[in-house]
Amino acid sequence: MDTKFYVDMEDIYGAHNYHPLDVVLIKGKGIWVWDAEDNKYLDFLSAYSAVNHGHCHPRVVKAVSDQAKQLTLTSRAFRNNQWPLMAKELCDLTGYEMVLAMNSGAEAVETALKAARMWGYQKKGIPENQAEVITCENNFHGRTITIISFSTEEHYKKDFGPFTPGFIQIPYGDIEELEKAITPNTAAFLVEPIQAEAGIIIPPEGYLKKAKQVCEKNNVLFIADEIQTGLGRTGKLFACEHEGFQPDMAVIGKSLAGGCYAVSAVVSSREILSVFTPGSHGSTFGANPLACAVAREALKVMQEEQFNDNAVKQGTYFLNKLKSLKSKYIKQVRGKGLLIGIELTPEAGGARRFCEALMNEGLLCKETHENVIRFAPPLIIKKKELDWAFKRVKKVFREID
Ligand SMILES: *Cc1c(COP(=O)(O)O)cnc(C)c1O
Repeated sequence: MDTKFYVDMEDIYGAHNYHPLDVVLIKGKGIWVWDAEDNKYLDFLSAYSAVNHGHCHPRVVKAVSDQAKQLTLTSRAFRNNQWPLMAKELCDLTGYEMVLAMNSGAEAVETALKAARMWGYQKKGIPENQAEVITCENNFHGRTITIISFSTEEHYKKDFGPFTPGFIQIPYGDIEELEKAITPNTAAFLVEPIQAEAGIIIPPEGYLKKAKQVCEKNNVLFIADEIQTGLGRTGKLFACEHEGFQPDMAVIGKSLAGGCYAVSAVVSSREILSVFTPGSHGSTFGANPLACAVAREALKVMQEEQFNDNAVKQGTYFLNKLKSLKSKYIKQVRGKGLLIGIELTPEAGGARRFCEALMNEGLLCKETHENVIRFAPPLIIKKKELDWAFKRVKKVFREID
């Protein structure tokens, strides 16, 4: 069975809600993946940062296999022995007091929004059904109807209405706009510390911390969507730590279970997460023992293998190398840790053709929006592998130039 076979079959039977590069991956190990013809590639996307551990990390795979033989799903009708341990360990690690576990990132964002609204009514005293949540333009928080209701991306919304009310959009990185948007009915401000999907947009230095102060002054919850930026990607456990503060709520997902299982979570204070009472929220698979056992091991690996430090070290190294690239098509190179983007000029003809050329050189990356190439390799990557990647990037820019 070759690549064409799988591509054709997918296009006939699978809904076309993605536009993948035509590479059919059948095997992965560490930072490397192999296609149906046994060509080898360096994975420079890490499933949008869900595979920070590299593919099939032996310790995480062992946790999957051990727990799969023991107990996988009980539902929350009963208790299991893995969830309490995961919740405690995640609190110890993050400095928060309570956890609510879900499966996908979007579900965890929805959970945070539900918590914020409940907190708004029960603790802040917002009149019934009047709660507002402030979000940023060009945000990406997932794909449910409520979440796309506050997207500013036309393409994400078209023909999906009617939308959920109660959300306001303001420009990203602008403190005055945040101050202006807050009303007595504002329950929360939801923000990505770096807008990754929007093209690795890094807000002005100090913005996040000032936003937190504005929120505090107005009794508004600061919710950080750290699904992509968290768990070491930018060189800290949470990207907000770069500015030295702790959000009221943080949402995590993606590599929480090392890419071997779908696990997401909201972490927050006891005061905030205690708004949930039995029956007010739930998920059949949320906090299942397999998910929790895998997440526990993935978090241990993340700490023991010092993903944070490696992201800082290798990220700085690679960012500087990319900045030395000379091409008339490069508008800006930017990043934090191992979350890096090359923004191309409008004349470059879009990032897609660069990604296709890089794929032919053995480097897998994906364009984000029209003009940005995103680089987000697994956090286990080493210097000599980045040198290998850089050679390919350089070659592609030289040949397209
Ligand atoms: C990926 C992502 C989500 C959505 O996560 P899913 O698991 O795809 O639902 C939400 N927010 C951010 C910042 C993300 O990167």
